Amino acid sequence: MIGLVRLIFLCHNDYGSRGGAVVACRAHNPKVVGSIPTPATKSFRENWIFMTNSAMVLLSGGQDSATCLAWALERYDSVQAICFDYGQRHRVELECAKDLAREASIPLKIMPLDIFSSLTQNALTSSTLTIESSSDGLPNTFVPGRNLIFLTTAAIAAYQQGCRTLVTGVCQTDYSGYPDCRDDFVQSAQSSISLALDDAFTIETPLMYLTKSQTVKLMQSLNKLHWYGMTHTCYEGLRPACGRCPSCLLRLKGFQDAGIPDPLDYDS
Ligand SMILES: [Zn+2]
Repeated sequence: MIGLVRLIFLCHNDYGSRGGAVVACRAHNPKVVGSIPTPATKSFRENWIFMTNSAMVLLSGGQDSATCLAWALERYDSVQAICFDYGQRHRVELECAKDLAREASIPLKIMPLDIFSSLTQNALTSSTLTIESSSDGLPNTFVPGRNLIFLTTAAIAAYQQGCRTLVTGVCQTDYSGYPDCRDDFVQSAQSSISLALDDAFTIETPLMYLTKSQTVKLMQSLNKLHWYGMTHTCYEGLRPACGRCPSCLLRLKGFQDAGIPDPLDYDS
C-alpha cells in the first residue's frame, strides 16, 4: 500500500537506518523535514543518496583546498566545488581551481563576489598595497568577513543542490592571525547557517589542526601529491611563484618539514 510517512532528519554523518523511510540521526536532534511516499520511489532513492552523501568543497585553487578536494573524494559519493572571484590579486588561482576540478572530474561553480574591494582596504584585493604585517600581528592581506561570506554563499548554493555538507581548508594551526580561520568561528558559522536555512548543515575542516607539513603528508596518503603542481599559493599572483611572500614561505616550509619536494615552479 502506498502511503505517506514523515521523513525525519537530514545529516550525512550517522544514520539510524538507510533503508527505511524514517531516518534518525544520532548526531543531531531529529527533525521533520517533509513527507515521502512509501515505498520510496526510484527518484527519491537517488535524491536521498545525493542529499545524504554529498559535499560541496570551497575550492580556491590553493594547496589547502586542493587537499580538501582529494579528502572529500575519498568520503563522499557526490562532490562538487565552488570558488569565488572576489577581486583577489592572485586571480590565477581561479584557473587552478578549474584545472583541479577538471582533474577530479567534478562540477565547479565560479561565483562573482565583487564586494570586498569596495568595502575594505586590504592587500589581497588591492594591487597598490604592499603585503606586510601590522603591529598587532594581523597581515594586511586579511579580508574582513571573507570566510563568513564564502561559507554563507556556499551554503546557499549547496542548499539548492540538496547538499548539506561544506568542506573548507581553513586551518587554526598557522592561521596567520586571521580570526575567521579558527575553529570557534567555524562552529559558530555552522550553527548560524543551520539556523538561517532551517536545516542541519555540517562544515568539515579536515585541516583545522594540521601543520602545513602534515597537510602535505595527508595529500601524499591520498596519492594526489601531483595535484599540488596545479595549485597556486603566491599572494603576489606570480607564476612561477615568487618564493618570497609570506604565503610562499609558509608553503615552502611545509614541504621542507615534510621532506617532500614541492612540484610547483618558483622564481627563486
Ligand atoms: Zn609568493
